[in-house]
Amino acid sequence: MTSLATPHVALEGFAPLGLTAFITTRVAGTFALGGGTPDVEAEAAARWSALQGELSGTAVPHLTSARQVHETTVLAHEGAALPGGLHRHDGADGHLLRGPGALAVTIADCVPVLLAHPEGMVAAVHAGWRGVAGGILGVAIHAMKAAGVAAADLRMHLGPAICGRCYEVGPDVYERLTGWQTTRPRQVDLRALLAEQAKAAGVRHWAASPECTRCDNAVFFSHRAGDTGRQIAVIARPSA
Ligand SMILES: [Zn+2]
Repeated sequence: MTSLATPHVALEGFAPLGLTAFITTRVAGTFALGGGTPDVEAEAAARWSALQGELSGTAVPHLTSARQVHETTVLAHEGAALPGGLHRHDGADGHLLRGPGALAVTIADCVPVLLAHPEGMVAAVHAGWRGVAGGILGVAIHAMKAAGVAAADLRMHLGPAICGRCYEVGPDVYERLTGWQTTRPRQVDLRALLAEQAKAAGVRHWAASPECTRCDNAVFFSHRAGDTGRQIAVIARPSA
């Protein structure tokens, strides 16, 4: 998959399962759909199409994403039943996929969480503070468990996202995230909170990217740094 023309950084841990996982970089350009000028929108749509074409060249037949709304809806997809091409849904922040295909979440400071089981199910979750507070990762893991997947066998990666030193939230958000009361703004590490949630749901194997979208703003888009651009994190399984 290093043959992908779209500039990206590989996310480690999935190659032994025959999967490819990566996040696009700033130099790839924005993948944001919605909210931009018509020209920017058209460029972003062209990037999605180009990336889908590159993936199809590696036997990944389709690429699924959604308009994200910072809630906890997780959609389930049957890869073998989907036609090739791009599939765009509305109002979901997580996806499960059984069989071949790729999932993408759109990110710029929020955490892209990728999950995979050795026997074939993958998931992608977008988790900002609302998603963390609402428990979307637990929703996704429990849906995988309900589909017969043992959480202890899952591999999880927490991709590039804003780090704990860069992410300060107000007292209300801090309490919703941690249960702790405070009277002043506090720093929180969303990836650390997600790792704890995953552990509580039974996940035993995980890794995290070292990058912070804001500290490493030369490489990634960061909402808090003022960027309107968005990168995407992708997990892909080729057809057998
Ligand atoms: Zn940082």
